[in-house]
Amino acid sequence: MSLEKTLSIIKPDAVKRDLTGKIIAMFEEKGLRVVAQKKIWLSKEQAGSFYDIHRDRPFFGELCEFMSSGPIVAQVLQGDNAIELNREIMGATNPEQAEAGTIRKEFALSMTENSAHGSDSPETAKQEIRFFFSGLEVDFAAVFFSSAILNFPKFERTNKIR
Ligand code: GDP
Repeated sequence: MSLEKTLSIIKPDAVKRDLTGKIIAMFEEKGLRVVAQKKIWLSKEQAGSFYDIHRDRPFFGELCEFMSSGPIVAQVLQGDNAIELNREIMGATNPEQAEAGTIRKEFALSMTENSAHGSDSPETAKQEIRFFFSGLEVDFAAVFFSSAILNFPKFERTNKIR
C-alpha cells in the first residue's frame, strides 16, 4: 500500500442538491482524508481546459456546459491507494452500471450529471491537483516551513512565550 493524493470534484449537480457533506462522509468513512478543499465556479473555458482530453468526444460540449452550470467542490483526498479507492467509492461513469452504495449509484442523475470526478492515474492526479491547487495549499510541510521563515521573528517569539 502506498500513501497517495488524488483530485476529487463534487460536481455541480451534487453541490446544488446539498449533497457535499454526505459525499465527503463517504470518503472519510473509507479512510480518505480531505487535505485541501475549495468551492469554485468554473467558466465554460476553464471546464474545457480541465477536460481537454475529451475535446473531440461528442459529449464534450454538454460536459463543459454542465461543469460550468454551478459551483463545484474541488478537493485533494489523501490515503492508502487513494487514486483507486476514490474511483471505487465513486462507482462507474454510467450510474446505471455503478455498484450499490457508490456515490454515482446513490446520487448521479445521468451519465453527464454523475456527481463526482476522480483522477484515474498517478500522472493525472498530479496534473489535476496542480490545476486547482498551489503547492502551498497541498503540502502542509511547505506551508509550515515557508510561514516559519517568512514570520521568523514572530515564530521565535511564540516559541519563547510557550
Ligand atoms: P470518469 O473518469 O468516470 O469521470 O469518466 P471519463 O473521464 O471517461 O469522462 C469524464 C466525464 O465525462 C464523465 O464523468 C461524464 O460526466 C462525462 N462522460 C463520459 N462519457 C460520457 C458519455 O458517453 N456520454 C455523456 N453524456 N457523458 C459522458
